Amino acid sequence: MNILTQAVAIVKKILIYIAMQSEAQPIIDELNFEETSILNPALPMKTYTGVSSKHSYFLVTGGKSSMYGVDNVGTEPAAVGLQAALQFFDADLVINAGTAGGWQSKGAQIADVYLGKSPVRYHDHRIPIPTFEAYGKGSYPCIETAELAQLLNLKRGYISTSNSLDFNTDCSRLMEENKADCKEMEAAALAWICHLYAKPFLPIKAITDFVDHEHPTAEQFQENLAKTCLALKDAFVKILNNL
Ligand code: SAH
Repeated sequence: MNILTQAVAIVKKILIYIAMQSEAQPIIDELNFEETSILNPALPMKTYTGVSSKHSYFLVTGGKSSMYGVDNVGTEPAAVGLQAALQFFDADLVINAGTAGGWQSKGAQIADVYLGKSPVRYHDHRIPIPTFEAYGKGSYPCIETAELAQLLNLKRGYISTSNSLDFNTDCSRLMEENKADCKEMEAAALAWICHLYAKPFLPIKAITDFVDHEHPTAEQFQENLAKTCLALKDAFVKILNNL
């Protein structure tokens, strides 16, 4: 019995949240997931279903913004999309697969895949009132991944979430406090929903860009997105096979 089966008993129904279509598409293609429309039509999220010999899957992406024509990245679509999906699919495990910024100074390389470590936190919810400060940062759990990471030769790291692709000096300070290895825009919001619904949460992040690099994040991100999404898909399939 591996660590995940110990942690969450028998994982049969797996709900997957992926913010961007380009992150999700290699996984959808590889696993032959089929598009379905189950959620409230008011919501922009796209949904897919699939089965394997061991599991049934329900995948949700953020969908596109009808106002701005881009993928619905960030915490609000993540929280709303996961919450809506859980109404229809009472998952045994929630996985978030996505891309993130990493730190060269901490040994990250482009297309490295990290499994999240508890706690998942925010670095842009600053509420400097003593009773609210910890709530702002959040500290939401994810499942223990040490054995899985060792088995599949994946890295593990702390994930820090905000709604900005770039960062200011406050973000830097808080990311340092969070010991961030992965900087991204959804995981803490998803971890919060999982905490509310008492669902085990497994975040998986692949590195598209370096936070500590002189090139603008957006340029690095565009340049590395395709190959990083393929690395994410490969790791993701291996992870599913070991749950
Ligand atoms: N420039 C991109 C914008 C995508 S937003 C585009 O044109 O498509 C970034 C998405 O990738 C978010 O879903 C976030 O979770 C992830 N991400 C990757 N690198 C990131 C970083 N350095 N900071 C924040 N989010 C990052």
